[in-house]
Amino acid sequence: MTPLIIRMQARDNVAIVANNGGLPAGTVLPDGLVLRDQVPQGHKVALVDLPAKSAVLRYGIPIGYALKDIPAGSWVHERLLDMPSARELDNLPIATVKPEPLPPLEGYTFEGYRNADGSVGTRNILAITTTVQCVSGVVEFAVQRIKNELLPQYPHVDDVVGLEHTYGCGVAIDAEGADIPIRTLRNISLNPNFGGEVMVVSLGCEKLQPERLMPPGAIPINDQRGEALDVVCLQDDAHVGFMSMVDDILQTAKRHLERLNQRRRETVSASELVVGVQCGGSDAFSGVTANPAVGYCTDLLVRAGASVMFSEVTEVRDGIDQLTSRATSPEVAQAMIREMAWYDAYLARGRADRSANTTPGNKKGGLSNIVEKAMGSIVKSGSAPISGVLSPGEKLKQKGLIYAATPASDFICGTLQLAAGMNLHVFTTGRGTPYGLAEVPVIKVATRSDLARRWHDLMDVNAGTIADGTQTIEEVGTALFELMLDVASGRKKTWAEHWKLHNALVLFNPAPVT
Ligand code: CA
Repeated sequence: MTPLIIRMQARDNVAIVANNGGLPAGTVLPDGLVLRDQVPQGHKVALVDLPAKSAVLRYGIPIGYALKDIPAGSWVHERLLDMPSARELDNLPIATVKPEPLPPLEGYTFEGYRNADGSVGTRNILAITTTVQCVSGVVEFAVQRIKNELLPQYPHVDDVVGLEHTYGCGVAIDAEGADIPIRTLRNISLNPNFGGEVMVVSLGCEKLQPERLMPPGAIPINDQRGEALDVVCLQDDAHVGFMSMVDDILQTAKRHLERLNQRRRETVSASELVVGVQCGGSDAFSGVTANPAVGYCTDLLVRAGASVMFSEVTEVRDGIDQLTSRATSPEVAQAMIREMAWYDAYLARGRADRSANTTPGNKKGGLSNIVEKAMGSIVKSGSAPISGVLSPGEKLKQKGLIYAATPASDFICGTLQLAAGMNLHVFTTGRGTPYGLAEVPVIKVATRSDLARRWHDLMDVNAGTIADGTQTIEEVGTALFELMLDVASGRKKTWAEHWKLHNALVLFNPAPVT
């Protein structure tokens, strides 16, 4: 076995071991350095003697400071490092980087569902919005019956999904921050994959009343038809017995299925893609293989005129200066700083900070701390200028590269990107997660060939070939771009779609519950 180590930048004084199974002590590296310790795959090795208190450099920046002398050839793990403190939010470089505009990519298309509001869906799904968790069991029961009895009659409709959640009652609905879960749920109901066909199931006595969730004018298509909000209220006096509630939901669903069944795919520009990128179950390869390939693909998408959102506040916080410098205007940079400051304060309320992000699995995978994780996470955003910022739960209204501020939690980030109008999701993982969403296709990218081999029927793309030396970042990124057009067109299904694997929606509620 040829020892293989990867250094990200020339000034780095550590590199990671790429070999499957790691490398034993005594291994002679290509440059003659001898390993003093056994170093697991994805973990760091000191390339030079690192004196106590000196900076340990990866991605060209200090990811920590040596707690004691670390001789060259040693395994550099998190217990040997002191984490740098977070970058202050003042005196940041504002819109200082003016990259050459990327040449436009023209002629790329996919087959999508054009909506009345101009947005484009990649799937044709009936979504049933719920105002409160109390109705979930009934909605699940009705969804099963719709799948079994109604869907076969509507061959152009892909699926029916209950938008269930834990919000709606027992919450301080007027408290600061409560607008976030409410607008998230509203905007998810308007996701392009649902064709503007909003129907709501409500209990009746809950705090989140249907009119508050969907005020007049919230649904563009209803304005055109002059229709009122379509609500099934379980506590309605007309309902006698459980079956009358279920029948009411089925009858209401039929009206929407009729219209959804009229939708047909048409050829649209790749600029209609709204892609959300995120990572989960990260390891040291995430920032070496999968995330750089996604970053290359992000640049292709932006060149094609599409919208790409990157998110996960705690995973970009340590690179805030890279982001504010890439903003297209001072206003965009200030919006980013505003989101970071809000999140700093949110974490401080719980006496936590960004260091609470890294998981035991991250550390086992070779990521020593959040600084190292963040540097590997930011590369998903590629090199394009950042042209907009979204607060949690807001709907995206522009093209280009957007910073959509969300927690890093996989399900919450995915839920908020759905609310922003995402019609395709890309998810990178090194440790492995079977993550999926019922509402949009999720393309999963493995960071290591070993994971892609073991999870061959869960991972859609193997970026581990970059570490193996058999493919370049550009090749994997280009293949991912082409796969996106196929998946968006419905020509290919993701593994999560094939197995019908999906995670629950999780609303971000920073406000108190009662
Ligand atoms: Ca995540």
